[in-house]
Amino acid sequence: MCTIRRFTLAALAISIASFNAAAATPDDSAPLGKLPRWVQPLAYQLDFRVDPHQPEYSGNATIDIELKQAADHLWLHGHDLSVSKVTLTDSSKKIYTAEYKVAAKKEGVATLEFGQTLPAGRYSVMLEYSAPFNQQLEGVYKVNSQGEPYVITQMEAISARYAFPGFDEPAFKTPFTLSLAVPENQVAVANTRQVREQKLADGWRKLSFATTKPLPTYLVAFAVGPWDVVNGPEIPATQWRPHATPLRGITPKGEGQRIKPALAETPAIIAALEDYFGFGYPFDKLDLLAAPDFAAGAMENPGLVTFRDYLMLLDANSPAHNVRSSFNVNAHELAHQWFGDTVTMPWWDDLWLNEAFATWMQSKITQQLHPEYRADLELIGGANYAMQNDSLVSVRRIRQPITGNGDIETAFDGITYQKGAAVLNMFERYLGADTFRKGVRAYIKQHQFSSATADDLIAALTKASGKDERLAKAMQSFLDQAGVPLVDTALSWENGKAVLHLKQQRYLPLGSTGEAKRLWGIPVCVRYSLAGGNAKTQCELLDQEQGQMVLQGASASSWYMPNADAAGYYRFNMAHNDLARLTDNIDKLPDTEQLAYADAINAGFGRGDLDAAAVLAAAPRLAKSDTREVVTALIPTLKWLSKYEVRSDTQRVRLTELARKLYLPQLQKLGYQRRVNESQDDALLRAALADFLALDIKLPEVRHALLVQGKQALLPNADGRLNLDAANPDLLRSVLAVSMQDDDSNAIDVLIKALGATSEPAQRMAMLAGLGSATAAGNAERARNLALDPRVKIGEMSTLLRASREDGEGRDAMWKWFTANYVQLIKRSGEMSGSRLPGLVAGDSCSQGEADRLTAFFQPLLEHLPGAERGLAQTREQTLLCTALRDKQNPEAILR
Ligand SMILES: [Zn+2]
Repeated sequence: MCTIRRFTLAALAISIASFNAAAATPDDSAPLGKLPRWVQPLAYQLDFRVDPHQPEYSGNATIDIELKQAADHLWLHGHDLSVSKVTLTDSSKKIYTAEYKVAAKKEGVATLEFGQTLPAGRYSVMLEYSAPFNQQLEGVYKVNSQGEPYVITQMEAISARYAFPGFDEPAFKTPFTLSLAVPENQVAVANTRQVREQKLADGWRKLSFATTKPLPTYLVAFAVGPWDVVNGPEIPATQWRPHATPLRGITPKGEGQRIKPALAETPAIIAALEDYFGFGYPFDKLDLLAAPDFAAGAMENPGLVTFRDYLMLLDANSPAHNVRSSFNVNAHELAHQWFGDTVTMPWWDDLWLNEAFATWMQSKITQQLHPEYRADLELIGGANYAMQNDSLVSVRRIRQPITGNGDIETAFDGITYQKGAAVLNMFERYLGADTFRKGVRAYIKQHQFSSATADDLIAALTKASGKDERLAKAMQSFLDQAGVPLVDTALSWENGKAVLHLKQQRYLPLGSTGEAKRLWGIPVCVRYSLAGGNAKTQCELLDQEQGQMVLQGASASSWYMPNADAAGYYRFNMAHNDLARLTDNIDKLPDTEQLAYADAINAGFGRGDLDAAAVLAAAPRLAKSDTREVVTALIPTLKWLSKYEVRSDTQRVRLTELARKLYLPQLQKLGYQRRVNESQDDALLRAALADFLALDIKLPEVRHALLVQGKQALLPNADGRLNLDAANPDLLRSVLAVSMQDDDSNAIDVLIKALGATSEPAQRMAMLAGLGSATAAGNAERARNLALDPRVKIGEMSTLLRASREDGEGRDAMWKWFTANYVQLIKRSGEMSGSRLPGLVAGDSCSQGEADRLTAFFQPLLEHLPGAERGLAQTREQTLLCTALRDKQNPEAILR
């Protein structure tokens, strides 16, 4: 009964709509950004026929749509699809034919022309098509691993249009029902559980999968190949989810065992996330898939999360860095099952609602389940890294308006992820963790299986906290404008009270052309010492240019830390005496605040307020910490000094001796081999110190120790593979890099030859990084040429190119190679890689000449490379800032 009544009402609504719109079929042009709203997809049935051994696949897409007005065409997405047949069926089963025409090839926009005006109403659109397997890791792509082809999907951001015709925009969330017809011996997986298997007449099998929850196109996923499928521990029922959920690992053939450590960690992550959200994992199963080649690190497809293989394939010989990343990335992707998959942003300008949240949540979950990983410090490190980028005039905002597909590509950057996470962390602290969680829970509940914007989130947090519009304005000031606030602080005694004067402006590095005047609503939290010796924290929302805080209980000799717990996304510049007093008390600061202190030193140097002498004076105080992140916090600035500022031998000697004195004893204490039961942090510290001392400072004793391991590692075994296990896996990159540079025998020949015989992903990455570190001109050229060689996977290319640009001469050679091979490089990696290209081939440049040749080369190419405009602007600006800093900073200060 109910059904009949609903049907009647719907039919009535349709007939009214069609009556009103009958006269006006839309007269519009191809939408290159958002699609018009007069067509609404309601559900997809996608039937694929996939044989990884073929160069192409075919599909049959049936899309239920609602035409909200009469029209003689509709717009949709489709990229590189050969559509052979299109029909529309209306609600009375009448069939119409239509023609599929490409409208904008580059953007993947197409039109269906009906040849007549169809009334508003519901239709079922059926498209038969075929398409090549993508060669550049987009859409439905194919990779070879150990001689076997595998087919994997990657739809985000806008590559679903390569996989099937549809409405490839995140606002359109609908159920998807997939089937995959595959040859007998192929394994196929998709977002949901398999519900049916049919044997087809040609011997193939047709696997049908359960209908998904409403999803945007960018989350649809499947994979076909000779996969190993490993059952993990079940994810037990919780108070938020009344049934257990199956968990599996999907790996390339023969690798199944190695995904078990990652599977073992997974149920606890899901349970912790459910407790936070108060909302059960909403999908019917969970598979983690190790992809043999992948454009990003991982992708949060609901029910079928895909990862780069090295993150999922672990064993006792895996580098500590990979083991930790495996957990962190898994926590990140699983956080997305709520942020992004359950609640989705309607448009790419709110990508931060996915990525900032997943980054912030990953940190929270890791801190809870693996406190020894110190995710709190990683979050601060990420914020400090984002602040470097956020100092540029050419930087994006967290919510950058999208003006073209290039802006969608460039939205996946440190601003969206790390700055966004830091801003969330700051406001969580300001509101209190419980209040913040209350707001987040309400937001997820209210918008589940639908879409929500930044304003929806801010409204939920405002409601939960009972705050007024000052909160909304403060949050918006960080979301909708670029830049890092710089808070000047000065403490003075006034009428027997300690008054802290605050003044805000934008942090701008030396040589910047930016405007410093800018206002944020900054939750400033200050920790200061009390007369009795204890410390206290006080917070204030600074949303005017100037403000002041009376530090209750402070004495005339109190020290203060302007960014308590380093939870604020701002930099600070303390009055001279205040900084000196803080420096004297640095031992009393928790390690979070020692990182904020280190950032203040790095930032002061970048602004030209501090010179090399000040950095070198601060380094010993931090280097003696017990915390790895603090020990290494000034290393980036020391590297910069070594690379750009040292002009004379005496300066070089001074810097080398300082580095030796500060860091070598720690490295020697750790030794060059793993010790039984050592902490993961010791392994990571060893790797960081060895890399810095051997490759940047070039300490002969460290290089020698690595070279000894390299000699062993480069001995070939009988099967043609190298004896790489002989080296400490945490040091393998550095070992191979030093071997490439110092070994006058044939290290390069040995490495290149072994590449074809090595499939272990961590070892391959170390080999490629080693090759990319070659300094001898002929070797460097051979290593770069490998980026165009089929023995190197697409996703591995950048590892080869990133390393080889250490000095001016190396960068010149790299540039010459790049400009000569540009066409082949783009042909291999795809135009989508364009946004990162300027930074990849010209990062670390530091002269006007390098900036100018970069612009001259890329400017004419911008219209072909989506996103490259911002990549070019940022790389150029970084180059000019580096040049200005080098010109201003006095190298003689190294000797003071
Ligand atoms: Zn993410």
